[in-house]
Amino acid sequence: MAAYDQLISGYREFRANYLGDDNKEWLKVAGKRQDPKVMMVACSDSRVHPAILTRSALGELFMIRNVANVVPPFEEGGDDSTYHGTSAAVEYAINHLHVEHIIIMGHSGCGGIGSLMDNSITDETQGYSFIRPWMKIVEEAASFTDLEKVSMSKASRTCVCEKRAILISLNNLASFPWVKKAIQKGELQMHGWYFDIKSGNLSEYNMKVGEFEEIT
Ligand SMILES: [Zn+2]
Repeated sequence: MAAYDQLISGYREFRANYLGDDNKEWLKVAGKRQDPKVMMVACSDSRVHPAILTRSALGELFMIRNVANVVPPFEEGGDDSTYHGTSAAVEYAINHLHVEHIIIMGHSGCGGIGSLMDNSITDETQGYSFIRPWMKIVEEAASFTDLEKVSMSKASRTCVCEKRAILISLNNLASFPWVKKAIQKGELQMHGWYFDIKSGNLSEYNMKVGEFEEIT
């Protein structure tokens, strides 16, 4: 229960400040609507918390968190058996909140990506009935040539896979018609981020160079 009790005690501390004088002006606006300028797609991983990592406050980040920070491609229609939680959030962020930036943030040691890199995990593996089909969206990221398999360590390939998956999700994001339109109109920018848990380094994908570069 210690973990749960810690949450309650944290909440009590938060609430005491929340209704304090410093927050009064903000509450006047926030009580009516939200107006974030940034949407972030991050992994559910507990070690990669976007607001903590960027020192963001309430109201600043419109968040999607899912396994391995994946954005599926745009799908027209979709039957009743298909659920589009991530796509719905993208739609809301663009068409209603008019965010100016969308950031997809991947990270090192990602369990979702690890499942792609682990050949022992198949469609029949117990405990992966939802993870497996979800990760298929970015499975191309785990495709390596025989030469790459010999010349690169498993750790290096996993890191490459994590970064490639971010690029696939960025491409998928750009397949949504209203995302495409907002980019063309200069109203929206997309960014790919990669967070290394051990070093704490954050890299940003440079679209012109085609590489992730460390933010210093
Ligand atoms: Zn992850």
